[in-house]
Amino acid sequence: MASVDPAGFQQLKEQQYLHDQITVPAELQSNVLVTTLDKAYNWSRRSSMWPLLFGLACCAIEMIATAASRYDLSRFGMEVMRPSPRQSDLMIVSGTVTKKMVPAIVRIYNQMAEPRYVLSMGACATGGGPFKEGYNVVSGIDKYLPVDVYVPGCPPTPEALIFGLMKLHEKVERQSIAKVAWYRKESSGFVPVPILGPDIFDPRQIQLIRENTLGEGAASRSSGGGEVRVMPELLSDDVKQNLEAIRTRYLAKMKQPA
Ligand code: SF4
Repeated sequence: MASVDPAGFQQLKEQQYLHDQITVPAELQSNVLVTTLDKAYNWSRRSSMWPLLFGLACCAIEMIATAASRYDLSRFGMEVMRPSPRQSDLMIVSGTVTKKMVPAIVRIYNQMAEPRYVLSMGACATGGGPFKEGYNVVSGIDKYLPVDVYVPGCPPTPEALIFGLMKLHEKVERQSIAKVAWYRKESSGFVPVPILGPDIFDPRQIQLIRENTLGEGAASRSSGGGEVRVMPELLSDDVKQNLEAIRTRYLAKMKQPA
């Protein structure tokens, strides 16, 4: 029978892996551990979380560095990044999310089995970063996927990513097998895949967006108008109809069998 030395028992107790109320007599502590199903279940999940192998931009280099020998993700049982969403628990969105990539990212997320988690790594994934309001970049992956942990930075260091992973572990440890969605009838549902095309952000509305995000003054200054408030330029009916026609054509094309 495996045994636990007294120091190991104390360590498990301090880490709150043992049952809160049931006390094991001292003479049995090297052989008997009492815990709850939730604690055992969460400990095993958080100690072998498998990240999905993909990166989007410069943040991915830091993620790769985190997995290499100096920082060593194997301390968390995470060293093998999985090349298939069906074997992964964790999606680390590391880099700039472009409009072209976001449908693929959401589709991959839908292919991951429950329980699944999303970590948004860096300013780009979290809010568009230096490319916010760019013509091809979405302003945050959380507009499309449920994000569990955000790691700020441009790029975040490996230490920051490790801190984010530890925060995710804490979140996992707070879950209860009796309440999690994936064992219940109302499991967390399919996330609609966004479509390419006229969507998300119209650069012609830049003044309106500036006013909403930075305030009136920002819109005036950016226009060089001094005290004059710049009114947003609204889309004409022709342009709206044109965009709607493109969208309808696109949807019809998507419904055709491959
Ligand atoms: S947050 Fe900075 S480092 Fe990360 S992908 Fe964006 S620009 Fe690159």
